[in-house]
Amino acid sequence: MIKQVKDGILYFDGCNTLELAEKYGTPLYVMSETAIVEKCREIRNSFLQKYKKTRAAYASKAFLNLSMCKIIEREGLCIDVVSGGELYTAIKANFPPEKIEFNGNNKTIDEIELAVDYNIGRIIVDGLDELSLIESVCKQKGKKMNVLYRITPGVKSDSHDYIVTGKKDSKFGIPLDDEIIFPAIEQAIKSEYVNFMGFHYHVGSQLHDNASHLKALETSLKLIKDTKDKYSYVTPEINIGGGFGIKYTDADDKKPYSYFLDPMMERIEEFSKDLNIERPEVVIEPGRSIVGEAGITLYTVGTIKDIPGIRKYVSVDGGMTDNIRPALYQAKYEGVAANKVDEPKTDTVTICGKCCESGDVLIRDAEVAPLKRGDIFAIFSTGAYGYTMSSNYNKNPLPAVVLVKEGESRIVVKRQSYDDMIKNDLC
Ligand SMILES: *Cc1c(COP(=O)(O)O)cnc(C)c1O
Repeated sequence: MIKQVKDGILYFDGCNTLELAEKYGTPLYVMSETAIVEKCREIRNSFLQKYKKTRAAYASKAFLNLSMCKIIEREGLCIDVVSGGELYTAIKANFPPEKIEFNGNNKTIDEIELAVDYNIGRIIVDGLDELSLIESVCKQKGKKMNVLYRITPGVKSDSHDYIVTGKKDSKFGIPLDDEIIFPAIEQAIKSEYVNFMGFHYHVGSQLHDNASHLKALETSLKLIKDTKDKYSYVTPEINIGGGFGIKYTDADDKKPYSYFLDPMMERIEEFSKDLNIERPEVVIEPGRSIVGEAGITLYTVGTIKDIPGIRKYVSVDGGMTDNIRPALYQAKYEGVAANKVDEPKTDTVTICGKCCESGDVLIRDAEVAPLKRGDIFAIFSTGAYGYTMSSNYNKNPLPAVVLVKEGESRIVVKRQSYDDMIKNDLC
């Protein structure tokens, strides 16, 4: 068990969280290496080893730094990046370039040049003129790039509107109107400068239902068939994205990877037999599901404001700067006083941050043991899209990230200093 309680104190991957808070300060991101590695193992067991010709590319926007790249490399996964900065981080970690895949709806010419210079494995083309940009860069540099087309499958996933990406009215992907998609396919097939590998979709995030994945798959299979019929071209690969949900609170009905992947693999196998083609290589892009539950955030309780009959606000020393998800899309979290885990939860409070925004709330109506200034409060499942979405709003320095493993801890990202925050200022 990653989370344990000893003498009323929360332990995380063998580490006493009060000692972590004392040693490294708060707010503090704590990531369990054991939990991350376990997820990678689950992906290997239920996908990579179960099915031949498969890859998993970790969607690094969920949580990325040099040491995370090392873990992903060691676990045998590929990595998915969505910007020059993420690409640069992976390259600086000596991540094998051929195992890097590049997504994103508006790659700049500089980013495309970086990708081509580094000889990365794939660019997932998102937008109609991007292929021409890639072709011109490759022509100039005398190179050839593997590309896929990200399509907009026109499915509506059951998640918050800000994290659904597959519906027709979306900035992501190429629309499937015949007069748009087929000329694009033809251009990619005929191009001297790219190898056209196939189609990609990513329907949304934090999903607990496989329906939209399966619907998007049908759309993609139809495209594979149409491409074969029209151009006698068989695409060797299909990328079915990420989006597999995790458990933030008890209300989240988390499913294993196999719940999403097995029916899709079965359908792809069947389709390939029917079409009499070799089954394409299948790629997934899990992000949140690898790191989300592997992280907690530790805070120190400060001001407590009790408005009789209305609400009790418990302020902590972080907030929307280290976790914007509650403010951005009403994401729900659970937490506990790390020094009072065994005490009865007799109080209902709102855990809020220290930023100058009334929306800076981390947990509304949390049931907690009575809290006081100086308590350490832990919020669970903050490993994904916390650190990577953090900001310096109100000039709050970004917290440190500590990696823990079986009772050992080490810092993998230093806490920002005040000087770090003004070092690019000129006057
Ligand atoms: C964000 C993203 C993912 C990962 O989504 P998760 O919900 O974190 O698994 C995968 N593919 C693409 C293209 C993405 O943008």
